[in-house]
Amino acid sequence: MEYIKSKIRDVLDFPQKGIVFKDLTTAFKDPRALHIIGWDLSQLYRDKGVTKVVGIESRGFIGGSILAFELGAGFVPCRKPGKLPADTISASYDKEYGKDVIEIHRDAITEDDIVVLHDDVLATGGTMAAAYELVSQLHPKKIYINFIIELTALNGRSVLPKDAEVTSLIQY
Ligand code: AMP
Repeated sequence: MEYIKSKIRDVLDFPQKGIVFKDLTTAFKDPRALHIIGWDLSQLYRDKGVTKVVGIESRGFIGGSILAFELGAGFVPCRKPGKLPADTISASYDKEYGKDVIEIHRDAITEDDIVVLHDDVLATGGTMAAAYELVSQLHPKKIYINFIIELTALNGRSVLPKDAEVTSLIQY
């Protein structure tokens, strides 16, 4: 874990003043850190029967894809409006810096699925809460929530469903 941490870059005042942006691109470009992230994420869900990993645009696509690959599960993108080509459902939410909408294909998840929702960073939790609401509408058997980084001072867990199992690899 210390190795991954050593590869995460803090960028001050991005994308706006006052935000300390946790930049994972410096970890993803490092072969050893990328390998450890994929392995450590997958260890959290090895025996849970996960069938789909939902990654949140866009930084959640990276860890989400490697987690899905490690678990032998499918990958589903949760995207910004107008990006997905077929029939979608959508939800709006507040972010640490602004408002946004996310969408998912209506046929991406079925009632037989066991889902891990993945994003790179848990900040205020608004994005993940919206993604959880979205995926819930498709009635999978179970939804887990996962992050690489959790910014504990922002208490994002408080806006996530109380009964959801939430994991993060690294806490700041
Ligand atoms: P939130 O909805 O506030 O939990 O924001 C989570 C989303 O915004 C994630 O998709 C992150 O990629 C991004 N994000 C928010 N705050 C930060 C931060 N301080 N560092 C890196 N990414 C962040």
